[in-house]
Amino acid sequence: MAETKIQTLALGPLGANCYILTDEASGQIAVIDPGIYDATLAAAAGELRQGSVIYILLTHGHFDHILGTARLQYETGAAIAIHRLDAPCLQDGRLSHAERYYPGKQEACEPQLLLDEGSELLVGSMKLKALHTPGHTRGSVCYYCENEKILFSGDTLFRGTVGRTDFEGGDAGQMMESLAKLLMLGDTCAVYPGHDRATTIGYERAHNPYARRLK
Ligand SMILES: [Zn+2]
Ligand SMILES: [Zn+2]
Repeated sequence: MAETKIQTLALGPLGANCYILTDEASGQIAVIDPGIYDATLAAAAGELRQGSVIYILLTHGHFDHILGTARLQYETGAAIAIHRLDAPCLQDGRLSHAERYYPGKQEACEPQLLLDEGSELLVGSMKLKALHTPGHTRGSVCYYCENEKILFSGDTLFRGTVGRTDFEGGDAGQMMESLAKLLMLGDTCAVYPGHDRATTIGYERAHNPYARRLK
């Protein structure tokens, strides 16, 4: 069976998790949420074979997840994917909150792929599906690989909690609906969040107070 390698880097002003996902059989790579292009990401990217980074996958448009996107694309030529509702954040530092928290640091870039619910992306033989999970932002997505039972949950689901819903575009009701949708993925699904440690759907079903509220 083909192996998938997941490397985690804590990047950027808030140490958000950037995941480097490699399909070992093909050598194709997707980088999820490059929070900044710094020496750590440059070193990791330098080890990646030339031309093998095919996607930069963004879970949402907040500055702490996207600031490395423009430079990483320049270095690798990878296609940028983001949900269409969060795409304007890539052009506007007010929408991403970069202007408020990290002024002058956002380089505008253009997404090549505008995602909707169910959009599918192939990294080698690994199929990732975008699940639209609004609540933290209007265009938040989680990336789900059904074969490997792994989920990259961005700022929607964290170990023991969920993302904030008090920013522009946030919605506590939608967050609960998104959480209910993620819980349907099944207990064995591994969850790689946008901040903090990895978890599983089973752990969250048992321990996450928001998940318990859904019962
Ligand atoms: Zn966020
Ligand atoms: Zn974040």
